[in-house]
Amino acid sequence: MPAAHTADGPLWTSDACGQDWPCPAVRATPTDAARRATLIPEFSRITRRAIRDLRGQPGGPDPVAIVRRFFWFLPLTDEEARAVALRLR
Ligand SMILES: [Zn+2]
Repeated sequence: MPAAHTADGPLWTSDACGQDWPCPAVRATPTDAARRATLIPEFSRITRRAIRDLRGQPGGPDPVAIVRRFFWFLPLTDEEARAVALRLR
C-alpha cells in the first residue's frame, strides 16, 4: 500500500512525496465551509507543534510563514497570520 500524504514532526514533510507538508496533494483536496470548520481546531493543534519543531531550524520558516503554510485553506493576511502565530506559540 502506498504511503499516505501524512506528516509528523519534527520534519513535517509528506510521507508519500517528501515535500513540505501540507504538500500539494493535501492542499488540492477541496474544502467547503463545513470541512474548514473541522480543519481549524485540527490544524491549530498541528501548527502549534510545527512552530515548536520548525522555528529553531537553521534556514527554517518563521512562525508567520508556518501559520500561512498550515492554514492554507484560510485567506489570511500577514497581520492575521502574525496574530495566529502569537496565539499558538
Ligand atoms: Zn505528499
